[in-house]
Amino acid sequence: MADRFDVVVAGGGIVGLSIAFALTREGLSVAVLDRRQPGREASWAGAGMLPAQSDPDRTPSHPTLALRAWSARLYPEWSAVLREETGIDNGYRRSGGVDVAMTETDERDLRTTAGRWRVEGIAYERLAPADIARVEPALTTDLRAAYFLPDRAQIRNPWHLRALAEAFRLRGGIVLSHRGVEGFATQGDRVTGVRTADGEVHAETVVVAAGAWSGDLLEGVGVSAPTPPVKGQIVLVDCGRPVLRRIVEHGKRYLVPRDEGRVLIGATEEEAGFDVLPTADAFQSLLDVAASLCPALADARIEATWAGLRPGSLDSRPYIGLAPGFRNLVVATGHRRAGLQLSPATAELVADVVLGRPPRIDLGYFRVDRSPAPAGDDVFRS
Ligand SMILES: Cc1cc2nc3c(=O)[nH]c(=O)nc-3n(C[C@H](O)[C@H](O)[C@H](O)COP(=O)(O)OP(=O)(O)OC[C@H]3O[C@@H](n4cnc5c(N)ncnc54)[C@H](O)[C@@H]3O)c2cc1C
Repeated sequence: MADRFDVVVAGGGIVGLSIAFALTREGLSVAVLDRRQPGREASWAGAGMLPAQSDPDRTPSHPTLALRAWSARLYPEWSAVLREETGIDNGYRRSGGVDVAMTETDERDLRTTAGRWRVEGIAYERLAPADIARVEPALTTDLRAAYFLPDRAQIRNPWHLRALAEAFRLRGGIVLSHRGVEGFATQGDRVTGVRTADGEVHAETVVVAAGAWSGDLLEGVGVSAPTPPVKGQIVLVDCGRPVLRRIVEHGKRYLVPRDEGRVLIGATEEEAGFDVLPTADAFQSLLDVAASLCPALADARIEATWAGLRPGSLDSRPYIGLAPGFRNLVVATGHRRAGLQLSPATAELVADVVLGRPPRIDLGYFRVDRSPAPAGDDVFRS
């Protein structure tokens, strides 16, 4: 194996693998190093919900919304390419979604959110009570409001990760499992490679996409990019028959129907350090919410429960761009609850940075050394 690459990517989650895939499409030699097996952390644990595509003729001017809209447009395109190149179906489906309100406050919040959808050109319809039963008959009749979003989509993230890794390998990319990056070799304002327990791997550019572990790794070269882990727990139940057809969201809780009557119930948002053990109270609260939204789920068989660590950031925005003080150390992390949905456009932006092209979205908003956004600036939802 070569020990010198155009780019070394530290971290083989969805962000790292998407970047690696995008860079090999540009003809670069790339190695992905992961301290474990790639694609087994947050990116595996996630629910795979993707936002609805907005009107392609209305590119949002806000960088966050532009990143989301671009990703939503790239997903069907990437899914087709991955399928063609690897034969793997990543499960991309435009299954549609229903957002529901159970209280007066929920209803007000949803009305505000619907205002944003309108501005972004996202198709939606407020459902009359009789139509709720038509669109999603298993939902409780105890709803104050429901909005239907026909273009909301989902992927099977473990399948997508497999497809990305395979497409990357087929283009000559190297994946090194159990090769944790321990630090960086530097010369002035340049990195010359990464240090591992098995020696140095040299690179023209290094990309840090190590999820919730990125902050600690970057601190080793004096770069401050905190990525506090945000624990998310999820429960998978089996109803034995298809009960729901659409993704159902109620605030930060959701139901994602899978094939053959399975439903994912997510997700908690907890500050628990690097602990990934599921807990009884989270489990119970998810089941309670699920049964209140969809009474049939009270009888479902519990198949599995797990937790993952979302990479947080200073505020709710990801970090995308050069590490301060370095000309060829790139950071792509901190996507919190939206790493699956934002990964394709993040990868394309990193390709712009690596190749020295003008970035297709202004990166000022995502720069590592930005001033933190004020609280309430969270426009990502999943
Ligand atoms: C329960 C739950 C539900 C979610 N649902 C959704 C959803 O529906 N939609 C959505 O968009 N997002 C969702 N998310 C968020 C999403 O999963 C994350 O934002 C995303 O997976 C982050 O990807 P990542 O590649 O940055 O991190 P990770 O997937 O954590 O990958 C980081 C990788 O880096 C490796 N690594 C760490 N340290 C090193 C090192 N020193 N050297 C080399 N490798 C290293 C790790 O082993 C890991 O493989 C959810 C998350 C959770 C937990």
